Amino acid sequence: MADISLITMEEFCEEARKRLDVAGGLKYALVAMDIDYFKLFNELFGREAGDACLENMGAHLKEFVDNAHGVAGYVGRDDFVALVPWSREQYDDVEKYMSRLVGQDFKEGFHPSIGIYVIEDPAESVYTMYDKALLAVSRIKGNYAEHVRLYDNKMLERLRESHTIMVESQQAIKNDEFTFYLQPQCNMHNGRIVGAEALVRWPHKVKGFISPGSFIPVLEKNGYVVALDRMVWEGVCKWQRSLIDRGIKPLPVSVNISRIDFYFMDVAEFFIKLIEKYDIPADLIEVEITESTFADESESMMRSIELFHKAGFKVLMDDFGTGFSSLNMLRKISIDILKTDMRFLSSKDETESRGISIMESVFNLARQIGTPVIAEGAETRKQIDELMDMGCTYVQGYYYYEPMPIEEYEELLTNEEMLDRRGIYFRKVEQFHIREFLDENLYSDTMLNNILGAIAIYELQEDGKIRILRMNEHYYQVTGSAVMDDAEYREHLFHYVAQEDVEALCEIFTRADANPLAGGDGKMLYHAEGSERELYVQVFLLNSRNGNKVYYASLKPAT
Ligand code: C2E
Ligand code: MG
Ligand code: MG
Repeated sequence: MADISLITMEEFCEEARKRLDVAGGLKYALVAMDIDYFKLFNELFGREAGDACLENMGAHLKEFVDNAHGVAGYVGRDDFVALVPWSREQYDDVEKYMSRLVGQDFKEGFHPSIGIYVIEDPAESVYTMYDKALLAVSRIKGNYAEHVRLYDNKMLERLRESHTIMVESQQAIKNDEFTFYLQPQCNMHNGRIVGAEALVRWPHKVKGFISPGSFIPVLEKNGYVVALDRMVWEGVCKWQRSLIDRGIKPLPVSVNISRIDFYFMDVAEFFIKLIEKYDIPADLIEVEITESTFADESESMMRSIELFHKAGFKVLMDDFGTGFSSLNMLRKISIDILKTDMRFLSSKDETESRGISIMESVFNLARQIGTPVIAEGAETRKQIDELMDMGCTYVQGYYYYEPMPIEEYEELLTNEEMLDRRGIYFRKVEQFHIREFLDENLYSDTMLNNILGAIAIYELQEDGKIRILRMNEHYYQVTGSAVMDDAEYREHLFHYVAQEDVEALCEIFTRADANPLAGGDGKMLYHAEGSERELYVQVFLLNSRNGNKVYYASLKPAT
């Protein structure tokens, strides 16, 4: 137990009440304070360090409150409370005090967040005041730039709004009021439609059509999103069936899966039952899972993805490039299509170039692992041109179509000239774009770090041959080869590895298969251009499809 020399919440309420009752004209503020990700802190650094952190926080708070002639209490866990006489200067003091604390005494990312409620009605219960201060805290939790926030009445309004949405949308789910729109996805080279995404819509009696941005997050909090998603998925399958029945040839439609769905159900099994029920082929339904959901790596999700693939569904990674450790994730999970959103790139000049370099690293990465990309959110011709320059083929954006009612989309489906039934596929880049590897501007810092040193992308074919798909300039230097674009060199890696090392090299690949995270590594004797050198090679499995496996390899001279 942490030894915190502060009074309990109960004692604090009593003491605060006494002070407020005799406050007269003196203004007070109620302050709530907690530590971001404290549970994680305990897990990472241990209970003892956690207790020390709380004691530290208690001591700081006490010092501050004593100076300000206020009173402080310890609510429990990582929660603290205080009552201080209030003035505008006081706010500046708190801010200064906080930035000092954050700079010195707390581990990065685990700083305190403070919510302040400047008391309007001293007769209100202290608990209610504390709730308002907590509401202010909740607005900045996990925010690295902001540590202090004042409560304002809009916060309560917003809370009420989201409560209304929660109540009304639950009712709407029961009444089956939700529907979906379809937004076509196009091949930019011919402007034709290759498929569509189903996007849920709520036709609200008073407010008109409500977009998911305002109700999905609310429904995710209480789990109702599961019921909603199932209705959308079933609606899409049923509609695909009805197209077939009416003699209209369908295109694939992708649906969104919420991370919460994986907690509550066997998602893949649900889809398999749906396509059985409506007797439609699996390739008419694709599933979109956001990058942040992948990051959970929940067992249920991993199992579902495997099942999806077995059953013939395509799995799309939504909002790719917004999260972390993308490269790692792609090594572990096999993804059929990446979706990346242009709107995350600001059009403001100073950030545009950074945005574009992020986009380009996404496309480069996708190219290396042989996965096609759909760019979302392209609205202008300029953006379309930029995307094409970057080697992108598919787009879902207002420039071509906005999300539309089902009937409108059906009309498009009946005009064969507007459709590209070849679907979304990865076009192998025949030419060897060595320049991409040399042009630093194409890579974000993170990518560069990931790709340091001599690297190559290998493909292990079904017949056991290892081909080099791509390599960078360092690769030539490290292996001692001067050949730039010799097809034979790329075809038969084994020619360049000493005979007695071939087996060992094969084992490295086998280890990479078994250890997606750590990869496989080892030494080999490599001869090119008459010279022989011992190299240390590290190999990671990136992707496996149709019996061929793609690996990322880094090489350096053996020490
Ligand atoms: P998302 O899956 O990334 O879907 C793309 C969003 O981008 C859609 O917003 C679409 O209308 C919008 N968009 C596409 N092109 C453009 C463009 O050129 N400009 C602009 N400004 N926007 C564009 P929407 O329909 O509001 O959906 C927002 C999010 O709500 C979706 O993002 C998805 O995460 C979620 N969502 C939608 N339907 C469902 C659903 O049935 N279930 C679940 N769980 N989530 C859904
Ligand atoms: Mg989506
Ligand atoms: Mg998206």
